Amino acid sequence: MQQTRPRASLHTIGCRLNQAETALLADRLRKDGYDLVDIGRQTDLLVVNSCSVTEQAEKDCRHLVRQTLRHSPAAFVAVTGCYAQTGVEALCREPGIDLIVGSQYKMHLPDYLPGPQALRKQPAPHLLHTRKIDRGDFVMSGVGHYESTRANLKIQDGCTFMCSFCIIPFARGHERSRRLDDVLREAEGLAERGHRELVLTGVNVGQYREGGRSLLDLIQCLEQIDGVERIRISSIEPTTIPDELLDHMAASPKVCRYLHVPLQSGDDGILQAMHRRYTVKEYTALIEKAVRLIPDLGLGTDIMVGFPGESEKEFANTFALANSLPFAYFHVFNFSRRPGTAAARMTDTVRPATAKARSRSLAELSRAKRVAFYQRYLDQTLPVLFETRDATGLWIGLTGNYVRVGVATRSDLSNRICEVVLTGVMDGLAVGHLAETGR
Ligand code: SF4
Repeated sequence: MQQTRPRASLHTIGCRLNQAETALLADRLRKDGYDLVDIGRQTDLLVVNSCSVTEQAEKDCRHLVRQTLRHSPAAFVAVTGCYAQTGVEALCREPGIDLIVGSQYKMHLPDYLPGPQALRKQPAPHLLHTRKIDRGDFVMSGVGHYESTRANLKIQDGCTFMCSFCIIPFARGHERSRRLDDVLREAEGLAERGHRELVLTGVNVGQYREGGRSLLDLIQCLEQIDGVERIRISSIEPTTIPDELLDHMAASPKVCRYLHVPLQSGDDGILQAMHRRYTVKEYTALIEKAVRLIPDLGLGTDIMVGFPGESEKEFANTFALANSLPFAYFHVFNFSRRPGTAAARMTDTVRPATAKARSRSLAELSRAKRVAFYQRYLDQTLPVLFETRDATGLWIGLTGNYVRVGVATRSDLSNRICEVVLTGVMDGLAVGHLAETGR
């Protein structure tokens, strides 16, 4: 009798880097004989790649485990990722988890599964965890499995910047880079599978250093790969962006004119307490230079509200700076006290209701800035890489500078780059029509 293939659901909580790692784990599990099924469907194996950046992210992980066990009570549950590194005790208390894999062993998780046909619930979780995480540069096997058009490509891990609010240096360890030849190997594999845009991901990608090669050197190698048509830098710390990188972004036909540069606060006192490595003046000078050098730059940022000591005055400084700089959007985060970090010991806390109100007003400002950025391109023709249809039937895609575009057409635009004339902005989307049949 033929054995049915076991099913595996993988779920990522948190950042793009986690997504890149989950995609590699998915690729490996497929090769090991699992059928990948969407989260929420019955499964034999659940793998959660977790996050510990906020308390909410940790709750989401535990919630997902419970939810899955409700519809698949016999599912073998494996938890890896940052929460598996920093929250072992809490995860051990959570019923139904069979395997906990800390950061050191994360990418080898499939090796620690009992085998596709031998998955059984365990009386207690098996724990693979070390406090120390390797500091050396690394390689990763396989090619990420993505359903999406764009693929994330992990190039770096860990961080040594030690911002006072951030648990990542504890969860992911010291900064280290992926071997350049190994990055190129996966990039070639992704291009062969038809991914036309690669998003370079890491914790602190500007710190990429491998064998004397920098992020810019890596990008120049990636540009040589046939089939890679767009290279996007996911998020990059302001102190790690050299002028040469800006110059290259301005000149390259493949590097997206897009920068996401975390600001966190627009107040020097708060930036100092956060242990960020720049002042408002330095950040502003960088952004002004980037915008001057790179025409049509799409610029995004992260802003944190409710950091200890943020009174009305400090928040007003942040709001004013966020308003004055040419951001196309920002992501707003509420400060979340993370045990073990320097900020966890700070006492001058902000009331949650105040932080929430600040977050709302910044989110509102971000929406307005996004609309204004999109409106700059009305009546212009831009190349859009289309990904998927939305619920209303519009084909949705992105420009290189991160304008989200919707087009109504009966043609199948999936994974095609088409010239689009933008005609309007609605619901956070630039809408338009095809200027030609596209590629
Ligand atoms: S740069 Fe700061 S915020 Fe970013 S990962 Fe490193 S420590 Fe965390």
